[in-house]
Amino acid sequence: MVDFTVTIIGSGSAVPMHGRHPSAQVVQHGESYFLIDCGEGTQLRFKEAGIKPFRIQIIFISHLHGDHVFGLPGLLSSYSHLGRSEPLTIYGPTGIKEFLETIFHFAEMKIRFPLEIKEVDTPGPQKIYETDDLEILTFPLKHRIKCQGYLFREKKETIRFNKETLKSFALSPEQIRKAMEGEVIKVNGEIIPAETIFLPPLSAMSYAYCSDTAYLPSLGSWLKSVKVIYHEATFRNDLEDLARETGHTTAGEAARIAEHAGADCLLLGHYSSRYKSLDELLEEARIVFPNTILSEEGKQYKVREMSVFSSSKPH
Ligand SMILES: [Zn+2]
Repeated sequence: MVDFTVTIIGSGSAVPMHGRHPSAQVVQHGESYFLIDCGEGTQLRFKEAGIKPFRIQIIFISHLHGDHVFGLPGLLSSYSHLGRSEPLTIYGPTGIKEFLETIFHFAEMKIRFPLEIKEVDTPGPQKIYETDDLEILTFPLKHRIKCQGYLFREKKETIRFNKETLKSFALSPEQIRKAMEGEVIKVNGEIIPAETIFLPPLSAMSYAYCSDTAYLPSLGSWLKSVKVIYHEATFRNDLEDLARETGHTTAGEAARIAEHAGADCLLLGHYSSRYKSLDELLEEARIVFPNTILSEEGKQYKVREMSVFSSSKPH
């Protein structure tokens, strides 16, 4: 089964506080590694989260506020100094090219590896990248400046074999391939039914990143049936007005998005530095959407396990 994980590097908002750091997380799908946002200190924190920085092939930046991007010039500088030669692509909102090129110019930064910067600005969900088994879409969020979310979606179900059948009939790789193509498989003249060769397939997994944003009901339909949603929950419900003014979301509003989307699990993050304890944010979200968990820095989350864990509980 392909690994599909999310490792939280930073779960805080504007100011590092209470041991929490600015936004960053790594999504792994099989051999593909993606960094989403790169707040200050991201590269310093890779090690304790068990991330090998050179494995990252694509960086997705949501917006140009410092707590999401101030770690990026430092990371790119390190890549250059440490002799990175693999290509790197950065997706981000309009302005990210000028932002980085200005820093490269004034800081005399020489990028010595193939770097491509792609600006995205879409009115709705749009596919921007794909591999054989995964597609990545971007969608607009509602913040004070241009901000994009990202959706990682497996293209197909995961086929599972009944290993006992394969073993007891000693099926060859050729026979297994034919079975996958729908051919009838016979061993010593006896038909082996497909349902004894295959176990029920595992459904395709998906993960959406939504930070920073004011409450945006369209996310409920854009992210319909997405299995796991990471949504910012900067404030508790009593600061709804401040959330609206600053382009952020309360815990209760984040939960409404997950509920409308029919998600299996909601992962909260981007916590305001005013909260030392996050228990009340969690409680407020769980009133609306019980399958909510708090994202914790340094922790790796398995998307399929979060989905299974959640779907076994009522909501
Ligand atoms: Zn912001």
